[in-house]
Amino acid sequence: MENKQVAIIIGANPACLTAGLELQRQSTITPIIFEELNQVGGLSRTVNYNGNRIDIGGHRFFSKSDWVMEWWQNILPLDIGQHTDNCFLTRSRLSRIYFLRKFFDYPIRLNARTLFNLGFLRVIKIGISYILSSLFPHYPENSLEDFFVNRFGKELYFTFFKDYTEKVWGVRCTSISPSWGAQRIKGLSVSKALFHALKKNITRQSIKNQNKTQTSLFERFLYPKYGPGQLWERVAEEVSERGGTIELQHQVTEFLFSDEKKLIGIKVLNVVSREEKVIYGDYFISTMPVKNLIQAMGNLPPDHVKRIAGELPYRDFTTVGLLAKKLKKNAQSQSAQDNNMPPDNWIYIQENDVKVGRLQIFNNWSPYLIKNPENIWLGLEYFCQENDALWSLSDDDLIAFGINELITLDLLESKEDIIDSIAIRVPKAYPAYFGSYSEFNSIREFSDSIDNLFLIGRNGMHKYNNQDHSMLTARYAVEGIISGNHEKHRPWNVNVDDDYQEEK
Ligand SMILES: Cc1cc2nc3c(=O)[nH]c(=O)nc-3n(C[C@H](O)[C@H](O)[C@H](O)COP(=O)(O)OP(=O)(O)OC[C@H]3O[C@@H](n4cnc5c(N)ncnc54)[C@H](O)[C@@H]3O)c2cc1C
Repeated sequence: MENKQVAIIIGANPACLTAGLELQRQSTITPIIFEELNQVGGLSRTVNYNGNRIDIGGHRFFSKSDWVMEWWQNILPLDIGQHTDNCFLTRSRLSRIYFLRKFFDYPIRLNARTLFNLGFLRVIKIGISYILSSLFPHYPENSLEDFFVNRFGKELYFTFFKDYTEKVWGVRCTSISPSWGAQRIKGLSVSKALFHALKKNITRQSIKNQNKTQTSLFERFLYPKYGPGQLWERVAEEVSERGGTIELQHQVTEFLFSDEKKLIGIKVLNVVSREEKVIYGDYFISTMPVKNLIQAMGNLPPDHVKRIAGELPYRDFTTVGLLAKKLKKNAQSQSAQDNNMPPDNWIYIQENDVKVGRLQIFNNWSPYLIKNPENIWLGLEYFCQENDALWSLSDDDLIAFGINELITLDLLESKEDIIDSIAIRVPKAYPAYFGSYSEFNSIREFSDSIDNLFLIGRNGMHKYNNQDHSMLTARYAVEGIISGNHEKHRPWNVNVDDDYQEEK
């Protein structure tokens, strides 16, 4: 009789759905996936609110990995004018920086507009401090501040990086490890940006082969017609069609070990009925936050591992979705629309008199996200801390706060122009690289020692992984399971050498 093996997979997100489908494609192991939310996709889900779809974060689909690019297009083919709903659109990227109530190119370019917006004096200071930093770099780099200053000069750092980065992380750049910079914006520098600006006029980027350019400079990307969640919903359908199980609104709360300390099962809580059940499996693949994972193992982890995990820092995230009839006319926004909608996918809000970090304009990701594309569907992104003052506001207050900030920014005339709204809170959106993260290796050593446990994905590895990285960690974990060698190095090595940034 065939002894069917079971893989218990925690989370129904890019990493876990990739793992589930790859197990099915390459083996007879059956995936059983548990997801605590009521929909699939994880951070890459699409929330449908009154017919308008929100992409939490604004997800560009591009990767340096051909395997990932092909995998995606195998699920959703490229739109080549066949008017199908299940397809990827090819989008051009435009994102700018809003600072001094003016729009700046992103990445910053040395052009007439930048010089004019910044003013003569500031430009001279930027030039001089860049030259000084190039001549006298600060080594060793002890913090993110050192990293930025060495590459961009002090004045450019103070003008464009410091406030925004501290808004994102809620701590000073001097307290953040330089490895964050190395991972997220490695290879970018003033000279490369200048070179790119010159080259851009000569050549156009190809969407098929994106791995030759520093990723922050990518200008085209794929995007599912109905938002990123559409892709993951399709993958979830395929996993189910092939006989896998996906249980939504089920939270994994505990890991069960045999007397020999072998991982044998999990306890799951139905978050609606509050019923608990125990499920046994052969392999365990997890993307639940490392902090929660270690906590769910009871007394098994050594004390120092419990302490490090308990102190792991995260940054949380809130999106306020606002449906606007029109925005305020702004001479610099370059809007070609009657409703004054800027052409950007998203705008970095550099101003320090508001808390909003980025402004998404979902129409420019895909017009199909909006029920009536004459309206403007905005996402105001706030980086915050679970239970801080902003996070704890009621939905109505958070929405009112967002509307007021748009008015303060001179981007909205009046609150009467907003016709619908929603607030979405996303805990642990960013695994952070400070605090006890410097001791993370102890957690890794411990989790690696559990032979049939595979940590993958973003929060699953406490790593700043994007969708493609999360998928690759899944790919290698599955290959490790199938080969029988239970290799853990390969997943950990993803996103060590290759990278791109998701925000400035
Ligand atoms: C603002 C922002 C912008 C981004 N932009 C991009 C981009 O442009 N391109 C890109 O590729 N990526 C981008 N990303 C990253 C992308 O969202 C993530 O890399 C990707 O979603 C991570 O996938 P994952 O599979 O690791 O898990 P996640 O998406 O983190 O999903 C984890 C899932 O596990 C579930 N879960 C957690 N604990 C439990 C439990 N105990 N029991 C059951 N379920 C549990 C959660 O509910 C969640 O659904 C962005 C992220 C953010 C925050």
